[in-house]
Amino acid sequence: MPRRQFDCLVLGAGGAGLRAALQLADGDAHVAVVSKVFPTRSHTVAAQGGVNAALGNVLPDSWHWHMYDTVKGGDYLGDQDAIEYLCRAASRLVIELEHYGVPFSRIDDGRIYQRKFGGQSQNFGGEQAARTCAAADRTGHAILHALYQQNIRAKTHFFDEFFAIDLLRDADGSTLGALVLEIETGDLFVIESKTTLIATGGAGRMYRTSTNALINTGDGLAIALRAGLPLQDMEFIQFHPTGLAGLGVLITEGARGEGGYLVNGRGERFMEHYAPHARDLASRDVVSRAIHMEVSEGRGCGPRGDYVELKLDHLGDDTIRKRLPGIRDTVLRFAHIDPARTPIPVYPTAHYIMGGIPTNRFGQVVAPERHGPEAPQPGLYAVGECACVSVHGANRLGGNSLLDIIVFGRAAGNHILAALKEQRYHKPLPGEAVERAQERVRRWERPGEESVEALGAELRRVMERYCGVFRTQDVLDEGVRRVREIRERLAYAGLRDHSRVFNTARIEALELENLVEVALATVVSAAARHESRGAHSRVDHPERDDRHWLKHTLYLRAGETIDYKPVRMKPLTVDSFPPIARIY
Ligand SMILES: Cc1cc2nc3c(=O)[nH]c(=O)nc-3n(C[C@H](O)[C@H](O)[C@H](O)COP(=O)(O)OP(=O)(O)OC[C@H]3O[C@@H](n4cnc5c(N)ncnc54)[C@H](O)[C@@H]3O)c2cc1C
Repeated sequence: MPRRQFDCLVLGAGGAGLRAALQLADGDAHVAVVSKVFPTRSHTVAAQGGVNAALGNVLPDSWHWHMYDTVKGGDYLGDQDAIEYLCRAASRLVIELEHYGVPFSRIDDGRIYQRKFGGQSQNFGGEQAARTCAAADRTGHAILHALYQQNIRAKTHFFDEFFAIDLLRDADGSTLGALVLEIETGDLFVIESKTTLIATGGAGRMYRTSTNALINTGDGLAIALRAGLPLQDMEFIQFHPTGLAGLGVLITEGARGEGGYLVNGRGERFMEHYAPHARDLASRDVVSRAIHMEVSEGRGCGPRGDYVELKLDHLGDDTIRKRLPGIRDTVLRFAHIDPARTPIPVYPTAHYIMGGIPTNRFGQVVAPERHGPEAPQPGLYAVGECACVSVHGANRLGGNSLLDIIVFGRAAGNHILAALKEQRYHKPLPGEAVERAQERVRRWERPGEESVEALGAELRRVMERYCGVFRTQDVLDEGVRRVREIRERLAYAGLRDHSRVFNTARIEALELENLVEVALATVVSAAARHESRGAHSRVDHPERDDRHWLKHTLYLRAGETIDYKPVRMKPLTVDSFPPIARIY
């Protein structure tokens, strides 16, 4: 089997992978980036609303307020040392992005335009901060392209359209690289590396309606699980309040940040009842639950009363074209509606996973040792939506994920550069590690009765029905049972097409295996948490319970076991924010 050697292997070419790779390549490391799609097609490209930094260009602001909002937004489950690091680094790294070539929108004096987003403080005489730096409503597109171009300049080595199968680890638990499959030829490839960074993004595709790209199948999360590592806080799934009803296509929070608002079937601005101060710009979990309640209590819009409406028509055609051109395009294309004239039908849709591979603020993957506290895993890092550092706690604020990938991508890059100075040589790669990873692909050469496509559709339905916005023990237990059953049936699935060249059916089968593992982690973790916190909303346990549940969940694949670890409440330099009631 062909082999290549690198100092660092980055799995994933979204914003997280590319920001880390850039730091490494600029630091003269020999770095390879593997991506299952061409880098600029990664989901980061779809990010619309913007990236948070307390620049204070439009209204006064400070990183400390940003930190408070993030802690509160996450319902006190975020680790406050990591959150402080995130918010303090934000301004410098957003300006650095500008210097990399990101064409941010401008205010009149030429500085970066910032809009209001959900969950931002109202500290300024009742006026909400405007913290989200935007390149119209195509911010992710601008960031991803700038980072890709910078990587080309820095001579990062790209393996485009290569699919990562599994990590290669030795008996001591050191990560020594990965087995990858070249999609074009069907050939397997070993990439040996002194350090490996997982940056494979989210898993929103486990739900039927989702804002996520088809490629967001949680591959890196399942790779970590199969390597015996835990996943943290997987029960916390963010439902974005404004997906295009029935389709799930995202209408950015920026639409409300620009002055749009929600109405129910009676034409009422119902958010006033749920969040008297922040109203339509309360945090996402709050707004999603409110929409769900309006519809389930018979106050929805449309012939079946199954959605609410987002009104933008009062903003005028000019503002919509200037600030929200992508949204206008999306709504015209998918709903045949001109938002300057007609309200947009919206409903909550799966959007983001707060949980992921546990890391510290240097991007090192951490896991509990056999009989001791957690420790960094040698040679292994994770950054971005697949990681849980944890800055988003139980609910992410809009605009904080693009920030997360930039801040921790850079931090991981720096940590890896230092680690490479210590580790000059590649450790020997045991043959069994390659064998084991290869078996995952070979398994699909055997015939089988079950259909990958049908099982995938069923998984998405089950997750939507049994692990949605509102949860109860009975419903979650049934969800666990059904996902387990799907996993068992998947072992009997087979492919009809065994060709090698561009066999997308094989890729979809490998992706579904990953998605099922991640779905099981999600629903098992959710069934175990008996309180409501952030996006995890239990009808049978409606209150947050800090005495018993102010702790992170850790899920392990072996035996589907659950463990817990404390939240790091102590920031780096400032006083901590102790948990108080969360009111918007
Ligand atoms: C529609 C939408 C709008 C959003 N808007 C905003 C916003 O305005 N502000 C904000 O802060 N956040 C926003 N988010 C969230 C944010 O965009 C994402 O969380 C973030 O971009 C994730 O970046 P990432 O680098 O971790 O992953 P991604 O950008 O998803 O990249 C993952 C990479 O991993 C690769 N990969 C995955 N599996 C494999 C495999 N098996 N083998 C090889 N390669 C693999 C993919 O090819 C891809 O290159 C939005 C998300 C969505 C879906």
